[in-house]
Amino acid sequence: MLEDNYKQRGLRKKLVKILEKKGITDPRVLQAIGKVPRHVFFDNALLEHAYQDKAFPIGEGQTISQPYTVAFQTEKLEVKPGDKVLEIGTGSGYQACILLELGAQVYTIEYNKKLYEKAKSFLPRIGYKPYFYLGDGSKGLPAKAPFNKILVTAGAPVVPEALIHQLADNGVLVIPVGDREKQRMVRIRKKNGHLSKEEFDYFSFVPLLGEKGWTR
Ligand code: SAM
Repeated sequence: MLEDNYKQRGLRKKLVKILEKKGITDPRVLQAIGKVPRHVFFDNALLEHAYQDKAFPIGEGQTISQPYTVAFQTEKLEVKPGDKVLEIGTGSGYQACILLELGAQVYTIEYNKKLYEKAKSFLPRIGYKPYFYLGDGSKGLPAKAPFNKILVTAGAPVVPEALIHQLADNGVLVIPVGDREKQRMVRIRKKNGHLSKEEFDYFSFVPLLGEKGWTR
């Protein structure tokens, strides 16, 4: 259902309030969540789930991340207009839309062919145009590096070295790192070639697959 009526806009406002209560403070991130229609990523029969603060299956054993998780990762990424951003794990494409709303130039890579094809044909229909790639994002996207920001939206066993290399100076990488069940959100900054690392709350993502991720 591509329509976006007063009811859905009202539900989005409520969702923004919930996220504020949970500690999201960046007004630009909240505005982006208030703007991107999340219900269009759901089948008609599941519309009532679209504006609840929870993750939801999107097929192929994958999920559209919980809105709080999307907001948390986006806030930590400190996206500025014009930033060149790499998102690893396109999934539904919802997170890519949020990054585009923040004025970023978005490169998004997905490992699963069906999800890649679905997002690539669907996002432009609702007005969002990131650059889509099919491949193993655990190795980054060397052909298009460096990136000002890199966001990993699947749980990684370690921080892949390639992602650090592909980060521009003054760049920020946000990545959930841990075991298959739960991961700690990690932020790495690169400044004058030096790296600094911060750790935040625990989250539970589907696993990052591929060469530097988990084997199935
Ligand atoms: N960002 C997505 C959204 O907005 O809907 C949610 C991402 S979902 C939690 C994780 C995604 O990462 C899945 O679609 C999965 O197929 C993908 N993925 C897993 N390993 C990957 C890899 N090595 N490279 C690229 N994508 C990967």
